[in-house]
Amino acid sequence: MKKGKKLYEGKAKIIYATSDKNLVIQYFKDDATAFNNQKKSTIEGKGVLNNRISEHILSNLNQIGIKNHLVKRLNMREQLVKLVDIIPIEFIVRNIATGSLTKRLGIEDGTVLEYPLIEYCLKDDKLGDPNISREHILAFNWLDAIQLDLIDENLKRLNDFLLGLFRGVGIKLVDFKVEFGFTHESGKNNIILADEISPDTCRLWDSITDKKLDKDRFRKDLGDLIPAYTEVAKRLGILHEQSNVSAVNVTKLSSIKKKSK
Ligand code: C5P
Repeated sequence: MKKGKKLYEGKAKIIYATSDKNLVIQYFKDDATAFNNQKKSTIEGKGVLNNRISEHILSNLNQIGIKNHLVKRLNMREQLVKLVDIIPIEFIVRNIATGSLTKRLGIEDGTVLEYPLIEYCLKDDKLGDPNISREHILAFNWLDAIQLDLIDENLKRLNDFLLGLFRGVGIKLVDFKVEFGFTHESGKNNIILADEISPDTCRLWDSITDKKLDKDRFRKDLGDLIPAYTEVAKRLGILHEQSNVSAVNVTKLSSIKKKSK
């Protein structure tokens, strides 16, 4: 697949045209931004890790019927994805209160929510990505009720899937943001999941220690972002075998060893 001209450059990714009008290349940059672009940095290797983690998650979603833009990963930094018209809304799902929710509503940080909370934000940097309601989405025709219901359904299934995926490797899925877009394949106007799912777009806490393994390490100046993202990749089993050993509970391993002596 030949890489064509740059179509769009965002904060963390670049989109290039290809020789197929329905497919584009998504390039993962090392740039990190936070607080509506007020904080910026480049963190070497971040794009490579997000590319691998997002590929792993999105390729699994196909198997549970959540249609998404991923065709295949091309190399360390690039994926071949379906061209979509991105819906200008950020879809956020929360399981534990933190971040902007706690600031906005005064809810205590770390409160486990009784059921997953879906929030919508308008994708508009100039306005600071304001929170919007279902009624705004319908009133301004950003989506119709059937489309929004379909997305909400997908968000709930996605949350259940991701909760299980991360729980299985000792990580709490605190919250995440996803984006959807319209494809124009074979004349149909389908809605599919787009963008990425990675530690840049999810809050991930270690199940035992609550250590942050996500972009909050950058937002809150905690340092060690690359080791944290690497830990997520290792636990998901997407780095080579030797690395996976550290994701296993070492205490249990050594006690099994002693018994068999
Ligand atoms: O900041 P806030 O608490 O609203 O973020 C909720 C979730 O959405 C977090 O997982 C955060 O990483 C993600 N998010 C994002 N991109 C944004 C805003 C939030 O990925 N522009």
